[in-house]
Amino acid sequence: KKSEPTYRRVLIKISGEALMGSQGFGLHPPTVERIAGQIKNVTAMGVEVCMVIGGGNIFRGLQGSAQGMERTTADYMGMLATVMNALAMQGALESIGVFTRVVSAIPMDQVCEPYIRRRAVRHLEKKRVVIFAAGTGNPYFTTDTAATLRASEMSCEAIFKGTQVDGVYDSDPKQNPDAKRFERISYDEVLMRNLKVMDASAIALARDNKLPIVVFSLATEAGLAGVLRGEGQFTTVG
Ligand code: UDP
Repeated sequence: KKSEPTYRRVLIKISGEALMGSQGFGLHPPTVERIAGQIKNVTAMGVEVCMVIGGGNIFRGLQGSAQGMERTTADYMGMLATVMNALAMQGALESIGVFTRVVSAIPMDQVCEPYIRRRAVRHLEKKRVVIFAAGTGNPYFTTDTAATLRASEMSCEAIFKGTQVDGVYDSDPKQNPDAKRFERISYDEVLMRNLKVMDASAIALARDNKLPIVVFSLATEAGLAGVLRGEGQFTTVG
């Protein structure tokens, strides 16, 4: 099979939880390294890579506010958590020879670059992996929305959302053995059925910008590069 890349530029979204391994919290360096290796394989295909990493392995705004914190403060803490994850991923990627830039929606000059759209585009053109940190920079949003926003701004052809399952099902495949996986599903159907792909604002933004979302399993044998070549199982929302 020819490994002709079908994509020129993509955004890869992974949740913070994907980085915690089996330890239930925080960062598990071997897991971060494994994902970094998958990203490297994608860059080796000549595809330009944007990344957004969540922060749920460290802090979630909603959880903080449920425990009595002010929502906006808790959300800023969640955004800071995504910066930690971005730095961990940057370190893992650079240690295997992949050039990266972390760009943050909340400027913190000593830690990473501020997000400036034209500069981020330039990094991609120079084949650097650009990791977008601190979400959208605004409370009440999620990193899924940040992923859709940045993918639109960077003119990505698709978002690849890595999850625990190999696509979108009509019911939870962990609860229901008869759950059916969709090959393809429309944005509206995801919203109507309230399927947990991304939050509603992220799905609506993707729909309005005609941005396909490919949901795949991070444990897939085909690997991320394989999924980009159309191998293995996944669901395309679009
Ligand atoms: N967050 C935010 N605005 C954003 C992105 C993230 O306030 O634009 C906060 C929010 O509190 C969220 C936390 O950062 O709970 C971590 O992000 P998310 O829950 O999306 O991470 P994931 O579930 O992907 O690990």
